[in-house]
Amino acid sequence: MYRYCRECRAELGEYDHEEIGLCQEHVALCEDWHRYDVLREEGHSAYAAKLMAGLADPPDPDDD
Ligand SMILES: [Zn+2]
Repeated sequence: MYRYCRECRAELGEYDHEEIGLCQEHVALCEDWHRYDVLREEGHSAYAAKLMAGLADPPDPDDD
């Protein structure tokens, strides 16, 4: 059980999804977060796992 949303860190309430750690707004990301967990178990770093799961944006090469 999670106390906070894994995506936005909001504290979870009774209508949220404590077993998967996502608030109502972010429950649609549960498959991405599951993929993240699998990638972490495979030994990837948190950032690499987020990139591969689609939870983080890679640096934009056009940024200065
Ligand atoms: Zn959230």
